[in-house]
Amino acid sequence: MKDKYGRNIDYMRISVTDRCNLRCRYCMPECGVESMGHDEILRFDEILKIVKIASGLGIENIKITGGEPLVRRDVTSLIGDIKALDGIRKVTLTTNGSLLEGSLKELISAGLDGINMSLDTLDAWKYRELTGGGDVEKVKAAIVKCAGYPGLKTKVNVVSILGFNDDEITSFGQIAAKHEVDVRFIEMMPIGMGREFDTVYQNTVMNCLENRFGKAMPVCGKRGSGPAVYYDFEGFKGKIGFISPLSHRFCEQCNRIRLTAGGLLKPCLQYGGGMDLKAALRCGKSDGALEEMIRTAIFQKPLRHEFCSGGVTGEEARFMSEIGG
Ligand code: SAM
Ligand code: SF4
Repeated sequence: MKDKYGRNIDYMRISVTDRCNLRCRYCMPECGVESMGHDEILRFDEILKIVKIASGLGIENIKITGGEPLVRRDVTSLIGDIKALDGIRKVTLTTNGSLLEGSLKELISAGLDGINMSLDTLDAWKYRELTGGGDVEKVKAAIVKCAGYPGLKTKVNVVSILGFNDDEITSFGQIAAKHEVDVRFIEMMPIGMGREFDTVYQNTVMNCLENRFGKAMPVCGKRGSGPAVYYDFEGFKGKIGFISPLSHRFCEQCNRIRLTAGGLLKPCLQYGGGMDLKAALRCGKSDGALEEMIRTAIFQKPLRHEFCSGGVTGEEARFMSEIGG
Protein backbone atom coordinates (compact mmCIF):
# COMPACT_ATOMS: atom_id res chain seq x y z
CA MET A 1 0.00 0.00 0.00
CA LYS A 2 1.02 3.62 -0.35
CA ASP A 3 1.90 5.84 2.57
CA LYS A 4 0.53 9.36 2.88
CA TYR A 5 3.37 10.71 0.70
CA GLY A 6 2.58 8.25 -2.09
CA ARG A 7 5.52 5.91 -1.52
CA ASN A 8 4.78 2.25 -2.22
CA ILE A 9 5.71 0.26 0.88
CA ASP A 10 6.44 -3.33 -0.13
CA TYR A 11 9.46 -4.34 1.98
CA MET A 12 9.61 -5.46 5.60
CA ARG A 13 12.76 -6.09 7.62
CA ILE A 14 12.11 -8.56 10.41
CA SER A 15 14.53 -8.86 13.31
CA VAL A 16 14.18 -12.37 14.71
CA THR A 17 16.49 -11.85 17.68
CA ASP A 18 18.32 -9.09 19.52
CA ARG A 19 21.17 -11.50 20.36
CA CYS A 20 24.43 -11.72 18.48
CA ASN A 21 27.57 -13.82 18.59
CA LEU A 22 29.66 -10.74 17.68
CA ARG A 23 30.02 -7.26 19.17
CA CYS A 24 30.66 -4.84 16.32
CA ARG A 25 31.70 -1.63 18.03
CA TYR A 26 29.38 0.64 16.07
CA CYS A 27 26.36 -1.61 16.55
CA MET A 28 26.44 -2.84 20.12
CA PRO A 29 28.22 -1.69 23.28
CA GLU A 30 31.19 -3.89 24.20
CA CYS A 31 29.44 -5.16 27.34
CA GLY A 32 26.49 -6.16 25.14
CA VAL A 33 22.86 -5.19 25.66
CA GLU A 34 20.65 -6.94 28.14
CA SER A 35 18.94 -9.50 25.92
CA MET A 36 15.19 -9.85 25.87
CA GLY A 37 13.77 -12.93 27.53
CA HIS A 38 12.52 -15.73 25.28
CA ASP A 39 8.91 -14.82 25.98
CA GLU A 40 9.57 -11.17 25.11
CA ILE A 41 10.56 -11.84 21.51
CA LEU A 42 8.00 -12.68 18.87
CA ARG A 43 7.34 -16.39 18.36
CA PHE A 44 7.53 -17.72 14.80
CA ASP A 45 3.76 -18.21 14.62
CA GLU A 46 3.33 -14.55 15.60
CA ILE A 47 5.82 -13.39 12.95
CA LEU A 48 4.04 -15.50 10.34
CA LYS A 49 0.69 -14.04 11.25
CA ILE A 50 2.05 -10.49 10.93
CA VAL A 51 3.67 -11.25 7.56
CA LYS A 52 0.48 -12.86 6.28
CA ILE A 53 -1.56 -9.78 7.17
CA ALA A 54 1.14 -7.40 5.87
CA SER A 55 1.31 -9.28 2.57
CA GLY A 56 -2.38 -8.53 2.13
CA LEU A 57 -1.40 -4.85 2.31
CA GLY A 58 1.27 -5.22 -0.38
CA ILE A 59 4.38 -6.29 1.52
CA GLU A 60 6.13 -8.71 -0.83
CA ASN A 61 9.83 -8.62 0.06
CA ILE A 62 11.06 -9.80 3.44
CA LYS A 63 14.53 -9.40 4.95
CA ILE A 64 15.37 -11.56 7.95
CA THR A 65 17.81 -9.82 10.26
CA GLY A 66 18.80 -9.53 13.94
CA GLY A 67 20.98 -9.35 16.09
CA GLU A 68 22.47 -12.27 14.29
CA PRO A 69 19.52 -14.14 12.75
CA LEU A 70 21.43 -17.42 12.56
CA VAL A 71 21.73 -17.63 16.36
CA ARG A 72 17.97 -18.16 16.54
CA ARG A 73 17.15 -21.83 16.40
CA ASP A 74 15.13 -23.03 13.40
CA VAL A 75 15.29 -19.74 11.55
CA THR A 76 15.49 -21.83 8.35
CA SER A 77 12.02 -23.20 8.94
CA LEU A 78 10.69 -19.68 9.49
CA ILE A 79 12.24 -18.63 6.18
CA GLY A 80 10.59 -21.59 4.42
CA ASP A 81 7.21 -20.80 5.97
CA ILE A 82 7.40 -17.12 5.03
CA LYS A 83 8.47 -17.96 1.48
CA ALA A 84 5.44 -20.25 1.13
CA LEU A 85 2.97 -17.47 1.99
CA ASP A 86 0.78 -16.09 -0.78
CA GLY A 87 1.99 -12.71 -1.97
CA ILE A 88 5.58 -13.08 -0.75
CA ARG A 89 8.01 -12.78 -3.65
CA LYS A 90 11.42 -12.69 -2.02
CA VAL A 91 12.94 -13.65 1.31
CA THR A 92 16.53 -12.62 1.96
CA LEU A 93 18.86 -12.73 4.94
CA THR A 94 21.33 -10.28 6.47
CA THR A 95 24.04 -12.02 8.44
CA ASN A 96 27.56 -11.55 9.74
CA GLY A 97 28.33 -14.80 7.90
CA SER A 98 30.21 -16.46 10.75
CA LEU A 99 27.58 -19.15 11.34
CA LEU A 100 26.66 -19.85 7.74
CA GLU A 101 28.82 -22.89 7.32
CA GLY A 102 26.58 -25.90 7.68
CA SER A 103 23.27 -24.05 7.24
CA LEU A 104 23.68 -22.65 3.73
CA LYS A 105 22.30 -25.67 1.88
CA GLU A 106 19.27 -25.82 4.16
CA LEU A 107 18.64 -22.10 3.75
CA ILE A 108 18.69 -22.43 -0.01
CA SER A 109 16.38 -25.44 0.09
CA ALA A 110 14.01 -23.39 2.24
CA GLY A 111 13.75 -20.92 -0.64
CA LEU A 112 16.13 -18.16 0.43
CA ASP A 113 16.59 -15.72 -2.46
CA GLY A 114 19.59 -13.75 -1.30
CA ILE A 115 22.19 -13.19 1.39
CA ASN A 116 23.75 -9.93 2.51
CA MET A 117 26.98 -10.52 4.36
CA SER A 118 28.28 -7.76 6.61
CA LEU A 119 32.05 -7.37 6.41
CA ASP A 120 33.84 -4.12 7.21
CA THR A 121 37.48 -5.18 6.97
CA LEU A 122 39.43 -7.95 5.25
CA ASP A 123 42.20 -7.86 7.81
CA ALA A 124 42.10 -10.61 10.45
CA TRP A 125 43.38 -8.46 13.31
CA LYS A 126 41.14 -5.46 12.52
CA TYR A 127 38.14 -7.76 12.15
CA ARG A 128 38.77 -9.32 15.53
CA GLU A 129 39.10 -5.86 17.09
CA LEU A 130 35.95 -4.47 15.45
CA THR A 131 33.72 -7.45 16.10
CA GLY A 132 34.97 -8.44 19.54
CA GLY A 133 36.63 -11.68 18.49
CA GLY A 134 35.25 -12.70 15.08
CA ASP A 135 37.18 -14.76 12.54
CA VAL A 136 37.31 -13.01 9.18
CA GLU A 137 38.38 -16.16 7.32
CA LYS A 138 35.00 -17.77 8.03
CA VAL A 139 33.22 -14.82 6.46
CA LYS A 140 35.49 -14.72 3.43
CA ALA A 141 34.92 -18.44 2.89
CA ALA A 142 31.15 -17.96 3.26
CA ILE A 143 31.16 -15.23 0.61
CA VAL A 144 32.95 -17.43 -1.90
CA LYS A 145 30.63 -20.32 -1.12
CA CYS A 146 27.48 -18.21 -1.52
CA ALA A 147 28.79 -16.74 -4.77
CA GLY A 148 28.95 -20.30 -6.12
CA TYR A 149 25.15 -20.70 -5.91
CA PRO A 150 23.76 -19.15 -9.10
CA GLY A 151 20.21 -18.74 -7.77
CA LEU A 152 21.36 -16.95 -4.64
CA LYS A 153 21.92 -13.19 -4.89
CA THR A 154 24.97 -12.47 -2.74
CA LYS A 155 25.95 -9.04 -1.50
CA VAL A 156 28.68 -7.79 0.79
CA ASN A 157 27.77 -4.82 2.97
CA VAL A 158 30.66 -2.62 4.07
CA VAL A 159 30.00 0.17 6.55
CA SER A 160 32.50 2.89 5.62
CA ILE A 161 34.31 3.94 8.79
CA LEU A 162 36.68 6.91 8.68
CA GLY A 163 40.17 5.96 9.87
CA PHE A 164 39.30 2.27 9.99
CA ASN A 165 38.58 0.83 6.56
CA ASP A 166 39.13 3.78 4.21
CA ASP A 167 42.43 2.16 3.20
CA GLU A 168 40.61 -1.01 2.08
CA ILE A 169 38.13 0.43 -0.42
CA THR A 170 39.90 -0.97 -3.49
CA SER A 171 40.43 -4.35 -1.81
CA PHE A 172 36.66 -4.55 -1.33
CA GLY A 173 36.28 -3.48 -4.96
CA GLN A 174 38.37 -6.53 -5.93
CA ILE A 175 35.69 -8.82 -4.46
CA ALA A 176 33.17 -7.48 -6.99
CA ALA A 177 35.81 -7.67 -9.70
CA LYS A 178 36.47 -11.35 -9.14
CA HIS A 179 33.13 -12.77 -7.95
CA GLU A 180 29.48 -12.47 -8.90
CA VAL A 181 28.90 -10.55 -5.71
CA ASP A 182 27.69 -6.96 -5.30
CA VAL A 183 29.75 -4.95 -2.84
CA ARG A 184 27.84 -2.11 -1.21
CA PHE A 185 29.34 0.73 0.78
CA ILE A 186 27.04 2.02 3.53
CA GLU A 187 27.43 5.35 5.27
CA MET A 188 27.52 4.98 9.05
CA MET A 189 24.24 6.15 10.55
CA PRO A 190 24.18 8.11 13.82
CA ILE A 191 22.15 5.51 15.67
CA GLY A 192 23.23 3.90 18.94
CA MET A 193 27.01 3.35 19.01
CA GLY A 194 27.17 4.58 15.39
CA ARG A 195 27.04 8.13 16.78
CA GLU A 196 30.60 7.68 18.00
CA PHE A 197 32.06 7.03 14.54
CA ASP A 198 32.65 9.14 11.45
CA THR A 199 31.91 7.79 8.03
CA VAL A 200 33.54 7.98 4.63
CA TYR A 201 31.06 9.56 2.24
CA GLN A 202 30.00 8.05 -1.08
CA ASN A 203 31.91 10.55 -3.22
CA THR A 204 35.20 9.76 -1.49
CA VAL A 205 34.66 6.01 -1.88
CA MET A 206 33.73 6.49 -5.54
CA ASN A 207 36.82 8.64 -6.27
CA CYS A 208 39.01 6.01 -4.75
CA LEU A 209 37.38 3.23 -6.82
CA GLU A 210 37.52 5.25 -10.07
CA ASN A 211 41.19 6.06 -9.51
CA ARG A 212 41.93 2.37 -9.31
CA PHE A 213 39.39 0.74 -11.64
CA GLY A 214 38.48 3.44 -14.19
CA LYS A 215 35.21 5.22 -14.90
CA ALA A 216 32.11 3.86 -13.17
CA MET A 217 28.99 3.38 -15.27
CA PRO A 218 25.62 3.82 -13.51
CA VAL A 219 23.41 0.73 -13.66
CA CYS A 220 20.05 1.74 -15.11
CA GLY A 221 16.77 0.31 -13.87
CA LYS A 222 15.97 -1.27 -10.55
CA ARG A 223 18.40 -3.69 -8.92
CA GLY A 224 17.46 -5.17 -5.55
CA SER A 225 14.54 -4.08 -3.43
CA GLY A 226 16.14 -1.29 -1.43
CA PRO A 227 17.63 2.19 -1.69
CA ALA A 228 21.08 1.21 -3.05
CA VAL A 229 22.33 2.76 -6.29
CA TYR A 230 24.63 0.59 -8.37
CA TYR A 231 27.58 1.10 -10.68
CA ASP A 232 29.44 -1.11 -13.08
CA PHE A 233 33.19 -1.14 -13.61
CA GLU A 234 34.67 -2.60 -16.76
CA GLY A 235 35.54 -6.27 -16.35
CA PHE A 236 33.80 -6.66 -12.97
CA LYS A 237 31.64 -9.72 -12.32
CA GLY A 238 29.59 -8.00 -9.61
CA LYS A 239 28.38 -4.43 -9.14
CA ILE A 240 29.39 -1.73 -6.71
CA GLY A 241 26.51 -0.25 -4.70
CA PHE A 242 26.09 2.70 -2.39
CA ILE A 243 23.65 3.14 0.46
CA SER A 244 24.21 6.74 1.43
CA PRO A 245 21.61 8.00 3.87
CA LEU A 246 23.76 11.00 4.86
CA SER A 247 25.21 12.35 1.63
CA HIS A 248 22.42 11.18 -0.70
CA ARG A 249 19.25 11.05 1.38
CA PHE A 250 16.98 8.53 -0.33
CA CYS A 251 13.83 8.92 1.80
CA GLU A 252 11.63 9.79 -1.21
CA GLN A 253 12.21 6.25 -2.48
CA CYS A 254 12.03 4.53 0.92
CA ASN A 255 9.81 1.46 0.62
CA ARG A 256 10.34 -0.23 4.00
CA ILE A 257 9.01 -0.86 7.45
CA ARG A 258 10.77 -2.72 10.26
CA LEU A 259 9.55 -5.26 12.78
CA THR A 260 11.77 -5.50 15.86
CA ALA A 261 12.36 -8.77 17.70
CA GLY A 262 10.16 -7.36 20.47
CA GLY A 263 7.25 -6.91 18.08
CA LEU A 264 7.34 -3.15 17.45
CA LEU A 265 6.52 -2.14 13.89
CA LYS A 266 8.75 0.84 13.09
CA PRO A 267 7.97 3.03 10.11
CA CYS A 268 11.35 4.86 10.11
CA LEU A 269 14.78 3.86 11.39
CA GLN A 270 15.51 7.17 13.08
CA TYR A 271 12.43 7.43 15.27
CA GLY A 272 11.73 5.36 18.36
CA GLY A 273 7.96 5.04 17.95
CA GLY A 274 5.92 2.33 16.32
CA MET A 275 2.98 0.00 16.65
CA ASP A 276 3.19 -2.58 19.42
CA LEU A 277 2.02 -5.60 17.45
CA LYS A 278 3.19 -8.05 20.10
CA ALA A 279 0.92 -6.51 22.73
CA ALA A 280 -1.96 -6.54 20.24
CA LEU A 281 -1.36 -10.20 19.31
CA ARG A 282 -1.06 -11.29 22.91
CA CYS A 283 -4.21 -9.58 24.08
CA GLY A 284 -6.14 -11.41 21.38
CA LYS A 285 -6.81 -8.58 18.91
CA SER A 286 -8.49 -9.75 15.71
CA ASP A 287 -6.70 -10.01 12.36
CA GLY A 288 -8.73 -7.01 11.23
CA ALA A 289 -7.48 -4.93 14.17
CA LEU A 290 -3.88 -5.99 13.47
CA GLU A 291 -4.30 -5.09 9.82
CA GLU A 292 -5.55 -1.66 10.84
CA MET A 293 -2.47 -1.14 13.05
CA ILE A 294 -0.10 -2.11 10.21
CA ARG A 295 -2.02 0.11 7.79
CA THR A 296 -1.74 3.05 10.21
CA ALA A 297 2.01 2.49 10.75
CA ILE A 298 2.58 2.49 6.98
CA PHE A 299 0.34 5.46 6.36
CA GLN A 300 2.04 7.52 9.05
CA LYS A 301 5.59 6.80 7.90
CA PRO A 302 7.59 10.04 8.38
CA LEU A 303 8.58 11.95 5.26
CA ARG A 304 12.29 11.62 5.97
CA HIS A 305 15.01 11.12 8.52
CA GLU A 306 16.86 14.09 9.96
CA PHE A 307 20.20 12.41 10.67
CA CYS A 308 22.10 15.52 9.63
CA SER A 309 20.02 18.01 11.64
CA GLY A 310 20.43 16.45 15.11
CA GLY A 311 18.19 16.98 18.13
CA VAL A 312 15.09 15.37 16.65
CA THR A 313 12.18 14.69 19.01
CA GLY A 314 11.37 11.04 19.56
CA GLU A 315 14.74 9.83 18.30
CA GLU A 316 15.49 6.07 18.46
CA ALA A 317 17.33 5.19 21.68
CA ARG A 318 17.89 1.52 20.83
CA PHE A 319 21.12 0.04 19.49
CA MET A 320 21.17 -1.12 15.88
CA SER A 321 21.49 -4.74 17.02
CA GLU A 322 18.03 -4.35 18.57
CA ILE A 323 16.49 -2.88 15.43
CA GLY A 324 18.04 -4.99 12.70
CA GLY A 325 19.74 -2.33 10.55
N1 SAM B 1 24.03 -9.47 12.37
C1 SAM B 1 23.59 -9.24 11.04
C2 SAM B 1 24.65 -8.51 10.23
O1 SAM B 1 25.65 -8.07 10.81
O2 SAM B 1 24.43 -8.40 9.02
C3 SAM B 1 22.26 -8.51 10.95
C4 SAM B 1 22.01 -7.36 11.87
S1 SAM B 1 23.04 -5.93 11.62
C5 SAM B 1 22.33 -4.81 12.78
C6 SAM B 1 22.46 -5.36 10.04
C7 SAM B 1 23.35 -4.35 9.35
O3 SAM B 1 23.32 -3.12 10.06
C8 SAM B 1 24.82 -4.74 9.25
O4 SAM B 1 25.21 -4.69 7.88
C9 SAM B 1 25.54 -3.68 10.03
O5 SAM B 1 26.81 -3.41 9.51
C10 SAM B 1 24.58 -2.51 9.88
N2 SAM B 1 24.73 -1.45 10.87
C11 SAM B 1 24.77 -1.55 12.21
N3 SAM B 1 24.91 -0.34 12.79
C12 SAM B 1 24.96 0.57 11.76
C13 SAM B 1 25.09 1.99 11.68
N4 SAM B 1 25.18 2.73 12.76
N5 SAM B 1 25.08 2.56 10.46
C14 SAM B 1 24.98 1.81 9.33
N6 SAM B 1 24.84 0.48 9.34
C15 SAM B 1 24.84 -0.14 10.54
FE1 SF4 C 1 26.07 -8.44 15.53
FE2 SF4 C 1 25.47 -7.68 13.06
FE3 SF4 C 1 25.57 -5.90 15.03
FE4 SF4 C 1 27.82 -6.98 14.22
S1 SF4 C 1 26.46 -5.68 12.96
S2 SF4 C 1 27.14 -6.74 16.36
S3 SF4 C 1 27.18 -8.98 13.66
S4 SF4 C 1 24.13 -7.53 14.87
